[in-house]
Amino acid sequence: AKHAGRNQIKDFNVELKYALLEKIELVKDLRNAIANNEFHLVFQPIVNRFGKVVKFEALIRWSHPTKGLIPPDQFIGYAEESGQIIMIGEWVILEAKMALEKLKGLYGEEIQVSVNVSPLQLSNSQSDSTKLLYELLTGVFSESTPNKNGLIVEITENVFMSSEEGAQQQLLNFRKHGIQVALDDFGTGYSSLAYIMNYQMDYLKIDKTFVSRLDGPESSVSLCEGMIAMAHSLGMTVVAEGVETSEQAALLCEYGCDYLQGYYYSKPKRLDEILGREVDQNVT
Ligand code: C2E
Ligand code: CA
Ligand code: CA
Ligand code: CA
Repeated sequence: AKHAGRNQIKDFNVELKYALLEKIELVKDLRNAIANNEFHLVFQPIVNRFGKVVKFEALIRWSHPTKGLIPPDQFIGYAEESGQIIMIGEWVILEAKMALEKLKGLYGEEIQVSVNVSPLQLSNSQSDSTKLLYELLTGVFSESTPNKNGLIVEITENVFMSSEEGAQQQLLNFRKHGIQVALDDFGTGYSSLAYIMNYQMDYLKIDKTFVSRLDGPESSVSLCEGMIAMAHSLGMTVVAEGVETSEQAALLCEYGCDYLQGYYYSKPKRLDEILGREVDQNVT
């Protein structure tokens, strides 16, 4: 038994070492990923209660030259640790802006694109890169009227955990300039309630863990109902993410959920695929 224990520790160390090497390698590879055109965005529609597409969420994908497609959960954390998220985040916003213009052609001027923004991108308002982010975001809407913007910033409550006043101030600035803010993954953190009461945000996104349990044995119906009612009482619009069945959609609509997003409607797709032939026509 003693021996087995020692082996376990050895295995554990080997695994740790492997994980660390893997991480170092990925961080190294991330440095060239933008220049080598290895990132692309996919877009997942967000529909209203009548099933009409009103927004898209932009989600990043990394086509690694040797490892293949790497999902964001496997590299965003590293990019945050290494600071590369600033550059990547800028790339995402520039891409999303271009996509937004093309989507307007197909879905009309009202269509919006939401981008996921890391707390680090908001934390230091003095740095050139965050200033650029701010200009990127505000620049889009300089000619349009507030609340008629095209981009939505999705944040998680981690933004508030960093005690940085900067992040909170930037959120206020965004809204002042007509950029909408969505609180992502609502319900998964610890003190979500305090944040939504203290910081005005436009959208509350109910996390998919609650949505997936709606029609399961451990039903989260009353929880979702409560979240929707509470968000509405605070003047927020509710988006449910991870909707996979018609039953989930029906329940959410019954309780007044405003917008729905999930595989039931569509998986995230590349812009070309969404725009269909129109892109081909432009190219040829
Ligand atoms: P998220 O912002 O909560 O995004 C929703 C995730 O749920 C996406 O995973 C999406 O593909 C997935 N999803 C959508 N509908 C369904 C469904 O019906 N069922 C299930 N099971 N999943 C669904 P994805 O694209 O792998 O992204 C994972 C996370 O990576 C995102 O979670 C977000 O936190 C982060 N992320 C993605 N793109 C970016 C980015 O450009 N910048 C930053 N900072 N983070 C990003
Ligand atoms: Ca999101
Ligand atoms: Ca989410
Ligand atoms: Ca998430």
